[in-house]
Amino acid sequence: MAVIGGGQAGLATGFYLRRAGLVPGVDFVILDAAEQPGGAWARMWPTLRTFSPAQYSSLPGWMMPSYAGYPPAGHVVDYLTRYEERYDLSVQRPVRVHRVERADGGLLVRTDKGDWLAEHVVSATGTWSRPFFPTYPGRFRGQQLHTAQYHRAADFAGQRVAIIGGGNSAAQILAEVSAVADTTWLTQRPPRFLPDDVDGRALFNLATARRQALATPAGSTTSTSTTASASTTASASTTAAGSTTAAGVGGLGDIVMVEAVREARARGVLDAHPMLTHLTDTGFSLPDGTDQQVDTIIWCTGFRPALAHLAPLALRERDGRIATAETQALRESRLHLVGYGDWTGPASATLIGVGQTTRPLAAALTN
Ligand SMILES: Cc1cc2nc3c(=O)[nH]c(=O)nc-3n(C[C@H](O)[C@H](O)[C@H](O)COP(=O)(O)OP(=O)(O)OC[C@H]3O[C@@H](n4cnc5c(N)ncnc54)[C@H](O)[C@@H]3O)c2cc1C
Repeated sequence: MAVIGGGQAGLATGFYLRRAGLVPGVDFVILDAAEQPGGAWARMWPTLRTFSPAQYSSLPGWMMPSYAGYPPAGHVVDYLTRYEERYDLSVQRPVRVHRVERADGGLLVRTDKGDWLAEHVVSATGTWSRPFFPTYPGRFRGQQLHTAQYHRAADFAGQRVAIIGGGNSAAQILAEVSAVADTTWLTQRPPRFLPDDVDGRALFNLATARRQALATPAGSTTSTSTTASASTTASASTTAAGSTTAAGVGGLGDIVMVEAVREARARGVLDAHPMLTHLTDTGFSLPDGTDQQVDTIIWCTGFRPALAHLAPLALRERDGRIATAETQALRESRLHLVGYGDWTGPASATLIGVGQTTRPLAAALTN
């Protein structure tokens, strides 16, 4: 068995495979392109805070060590590093999978360090390597970057900065950049703030309710990929019946009021404008016809699933999606996808939610 990706989804898969009696490095292998553990968390900006407290940001088996308040990205990296050591998951890195092909006896996993023939492949490559930029008419000639390239607020000191997007990434980046720069916040719809005492735990509770509601005797649902993005982990909340609410987690909102965001609210900078209509050489135009000039645009507009390595399997539907039943690819039963978003299991793109998806996945692979 081959698991592609050694972030939280790959580790949670490894945990349950090992618990089923499989030996890491012998019965299954986890291949990870990164030099170091931590998955996407190792590349996120250091002041990023999780949207749930530590005890609600844990993988199966071992709780994340406690942290006062919402843990920063580095705390998650330390946890994931120790997690794979604790369970001796023998993640092989850096090993980049270029292609997965059909072959006699299984799926051939072609990498920059040789090939693996696997009876089953679990793809857990996340979304971080595929930042999504929406397209707008016109061309901006200033600096542009995505959440995936953001490191620190000090890089924008004294600038005029537009921050685009209505999710947690945008709110947290806005909160710190607005302390050193003149910021404008643009969102497609008015931002939806959670009450101060509600956080990502509510998302997990909803996902659990949804999982229970969907647990029919057949035990499977059919869904397809497209909208897996970091910002949708909080915004694509679902009711127990599986329908998306119009106002975020439980109808309450999307944005978790971590300390920095509350502090920005107190400064009066959480003031969003309607989305731009087009870009100009020096900024953008707003729906009311006014032009605004900025030095930098930070696009906090989410991510897409990193699935290029699966292209040889030709599983994408006409609309670009891969159809799945739970985690199993409908048109390639030896392939499973995990961690990309709700289409690969309710809340499977979260630390606490992914275990609920990988437990039945490992059971299916080892029965
Ligand atoms: C800004 C932001 C904030 C978030 N905040 C929270 C939060 O507070 N709480 C929460 O629970 N979730 C949060 N999430 C969501 C989620 O926890 C992360 O997206 C998580 O990193 C997804 O884990 P993963 O294992 O699926 O993917 P990743 O962490 O991206 O791991 C995938 C791994 O696969 C490797 N890989 C990729 N392609 C290949 C290849 N071809 N060959 C070999 N290896 C490959 C990568 O190097 C990487 O190590 C947040 C996400 C973002 C972007």
